[in-house]
Amino acid sequence: MNWLMAHRVASIAAATLRRRLDLSEDHYVDVFAGLRRCGLAVMGQDMPSLFGVYLPPAPGRHGGIFLNTTMGEATIRHTAAHELGHAQFGHERCLADGPDPFLGTPRDKWPAEEKQAEAFAAWFLMPIRLVKATLTRLGLDIPREAADVYQLSLHLGTSYRGTLRHLQHLRMVQSQVARGWATVQPARLRARLSGQAEQSPPRVWDLRSLTEGSRLAVEQGDRLIVRAPGLGADPEVTGPAGIRTLSTPYALAPGDGVELDVTAGIDAESTLTLSSHDRTQTWSATLLATPEGHRGLIAPPSRHVLVGPVNGVRQ
Ligand SMILES: [Zn+2]
Repeated sequence: MNWLMAHRVASIAAATLRRRLDLSEDHYVDVFAGLRRCGLAVMGQDMPSLFGVYLPPAPGRHGGIFLNTTMGEATIRHTAAHELGHAQFGHERCLADGPDPFLGTPRDKWPAEEKQAEAFAAWFLMPIRLVKATLTRLGLDIPREAADVYQLSLHLGTSYRGTLRHLQHLRMVQSQVARGWATVQPARLRARLSGQAEQSPPRVWDLRSLTEGSRLAVEQGDRLIVRAPGLGADPEVTGPAGIRTLSTPYALAPGDGVELDVTAGIDAESTLTLSSHDRTQTWSATLLATPEGHRGLIAPPSRHVLVGPVNGVRQ
């Protein structure tokens, strides 16, 4: 199976499963909500040499997914979607998902089932409708530079490289351009954006007027740069505990907006609002609860297995 075919099949399978798990195509894909509904036993644990594991159901046994919780959030999300892909296709167990599963193996030489699961993960987390809607909020029709791909990846909760790869499948970035952008280190983008060459925050959001009203899956340590010149000098910030306004911005000139740090976990979904002093102008966004450690039982097995080929035939 070539990658083109893997993507064709995966795009349909991912849309089908998102529907069965009742996950929206318009918002950030909450893969953990999907895991809780999927009928499989899902466990998060430290696994030194594996990304994830999928064990298919067998007579008298529920199927299950194990996720390595020592990875970053984008990687855990990708792995979860990859293992869901194996389940949805009815594959035999996948244990080969080590950190970079086929290190040294060219992508063209991957086994067919791994190509399918990888393609599935991309389509599951980055449905075209969501990608287009997010680009619109970023004021773009297609990405113009590497920094756009980086911002898109934050909004989608995916990795920079994974997002860049998928944009080629969506025909939004040409492969020659993508090869150039793939050499750009996200650390360089973060340094440029944050105005901090040394010790730039691990993730830097560039938020503007069009991103108002967005739902942001923030993490502890994130920097939020809100460019809202209409709010005047020193806008008032209201939001959950764990959000700290930088008294001396690094990237913005006075009056151009506000820089905020996510210094602690955000317990529950909350609204972040910036208001001008006369309260006539506001900018707001929804901050999703910051992810927990994902360690332990994420979802107990349930009788109603929703994931897998509809006809029950293992492929
Ligand atoms: Zn796999």
